[in-house]
Amino acid sequence: MKSDIEIAQACPMRHIREIAREVGVEERYLEQYGNYKAKIDDKLLQEKKGPDGKLILVTAITPTPAGEGKTTTTVGLADGLRKLGKKSVVALREPSLGPVFGLKGGAAGGGYAQVVPMEDINLHFTGDFHAIGAANNLLAAMLDNHIQQGNALGIDVKKITWKRCVDMNDRQLRNIVDGLGGRAQGVPREDGFDITVASEIMAVLCLATSITDLKARLGRMVVGYTYEDKPVTANDLKAAGAMAALLKDAIKPNLVQTLEGTPALIHGGPFANIAHGCNSIMATRAALKLGDYAVTEAGFGADLGAEKFLDIKCRMADLQPSAVVVVATVRALKHHGGVAKADLGKEDLAALERGLPNLLRHVENITTVFRLPCVVAINRFPLDTEAELALIADRCRELGVHVALSEVWAKGGEGGRALAEEVVRLCEQPNQFQQAYPLDCSIEEKLRAIVTKIYRGKDVVLTPNAQKQARQLTEQGFGGYPICMAKTQYSFSDNQALLGAPEDFTVTVRNLKVSAGAGFIVALTGDILTMPGLPKVPAAEKIDVDETGKITGLF
Ligand code: ADP
Ligand code: MG
Repeated sequence: MKSDIEIAQACPMRHIREIAREVGVEERYLEQYGNYKAKIDDKLLQEKKGPDGKLILVTAITPTPAGEGKTTTTVGLADGLRKLGKKSVVALREPSLGPVFGLKGGAAGGGYAQVVPMEDINLHFTGDFHAIGAANNLLAAMLDNHIQQGNALGIDVKKITWKRCVDMNDRQLRNIVDGLGGRAQGVPREDGFDITVASEIMAVLCLATSITDLKARLGRMVVGYTYEDKPVTANDLKAAGAMAALLKDAIKPNLVQTLEGTPALIHGGPFANIAHGCNSIMATRAALKLGDYAVTEAGFGADLGAEKFLDIKCRMADLQPSAVVVVATVRALKHHGGVAKADLGKEDLAALERGLPNLLRHVENITTVFRLPCVVAINRFPLDTEAELALIADRCRELGVHVALSEVWAKGGEGGRALAEEVVRLCEQPNQFQQAYPLDCSIEEKLRAIVTKIYRGKDVVLTPNAQKQARQLTEQGFGGYPICMAKTQYSFSDNQALLGAPEDFTVTVRNLKVSAGAGFIVALTGDILTMPGLPKVPAAEKIDVDETGKITGLF
C-alpha cells in the first residue's frame, strides 16, 4: 500500500492558472507562488457577480485516537461532487508545523483524497503563518519597549496577557523569564510562548472580512491590564497599522488543487479550543463565490467544531449552511463502545452498537438545535467488516438518519459519489438554520445553552473566579460576544474519560477571558495547552529531503 506522500507525489498536478480558469478566476486576481500555488486577490470578493454556492460543513463524532478522517472526507466529497458534474470547491485550514513534526502529522487529507502539493501545504506553504508570527511578535516587542521607555500607559507587568509565539511544538518556551541583563536590556518579567496557531492574530485573520476589518480587530486586541485593571489594547500601543501591513498578503486565500484537480482554498488555521477552529471567512466566501458547492471542515467533534462554526463563524459572516456531514468510523465508534486501541481491528458488533449513541447525539444536535439537514458519512477503513458497516447504516436508517458509505480514502472522488448524491439532495431542502443561543443574553445563559443543548449536561457550573470574570467582562462591554468553549475534544463532558454519550454531568467553567479582536469570550473548562510539546519519538525524526529536493517521511 502506498503512503499518503507517495500517492501525492505520483499525482500529475495541473498548473494553478488552469485550476483558477476553470472556476472563473481571471489572471488579474491571481498572485502565483510558483506553478501550483496562488493567492487570490480580495478584490475578487467584491467584484465577482453571481449568486453564492451552497455551503456544506463536514464535522465528526467525538474524536478518538483511532482517527475520524474529516479532512479526507471533505476533500473526497468535493471530488465526488465533481464526478456528478457539479462545480465544487474545498475550503480547509492550513496545517501547523507543530503537529507536522510532532505526533499528528500533516493535515492535507489522506489516501486518494488529498490536497497537493502536500509537502508545501504541510511545510511553509505561502508563508502565512510566518507573517502571523511576525505580527504577533511585533506587538510583543512594542509592548515591552513601551514599558522600557517609561510605561506611560501604566501597564502592570504582572498582568500582561500577550505572549510571544512560534509555529513549533516547543514546551521549553511555555514559561520563560526574559528582559534579563540589567537596565538597558529590558524589564525582567515572567513571559511565555504560544504556538502560532494559538495566537489571537490567527483567529482575527480568520474572522476578518476585509483588510479594514482586520486592522480594526487587531487594534481591539487586549495585551494586558494597567495597575488600575484597565485593559490595554494594541491600539493603545499604536501597533495595529504595522501589524496589518505585515499581514496584507497573509489575509488573501491560497488556491491549490486536490489530487483530482478540484480547486481547494486553504487558508488560516486557528486552534479549535481557545479559538474557533475553522478556515478563514475570506476563503469560505471565496469558495462560495467560485463554486456551486463549497465544502469546508471544522476541527474536533461536532460539539466543539460545528457548534463554533455555526454559532461564531456563520453568525459573524452571515453564512447560511445548506447541509452538514457528520463523519463516523467503525473504529472510533467501537472505541466509544469501550474497545481498546490495540483491538480496534477485530470485528465487534456489540461494542459498535454501544458506541452508536455518540454519533446519534451529534446528528440530533445538528438537526434539532441548529435545524440543518444532516447526513452521516461512514468513512470506510481497510479492516472494517461488511457486518459492521451494515450495522451502522441499518441503525441510522431505522431512526430516519441519512447515511452514506464513503470510500474516498481508497478510491478518491469515485468513492464519494454516494455521499455527494445525498449531499446534493439535502442541499435542495429548505432549512430553518438557527444558532444555539442568542447574543443578547448573559454570559452564563449562553454557557448554559451550550452545555445543556449541545453537550446534554445537567448544567454549567462557574467557579467563583469565573463568576467574577463574567461580571467584569460584562461591565467592560463584552457581554454581547459569543462564547468560544475550550473543553476537551474527547468527550461531550469536560472529563475526557467519559466516552460515548454521557449523561448527568455538569461542566465547570474555571476561567473566562476575552479575545476582543476575534470577538468572542473564551470559556476554559480546564487547563488548555497553548504551546504543545513533542512526543518521545517526533515525526520529525523520519522526515528527510534528498539531493533533488524530494521530501520523504511526511504524513
Ligand atoms: P481529521 O481531519 O478528522 O483529523 P484526517 O482526514 O486528517 O482526519 O485523517 C487522519 C488520518 O487518518 C490521515 O493520516 C488519513 O490518511 C487517515 N485516514 C483517514 N481516513 C482513512 C481511511 N478511510 N482509511 C485509512 N486511513 C484513513
Ligand atoms: Mg482535519
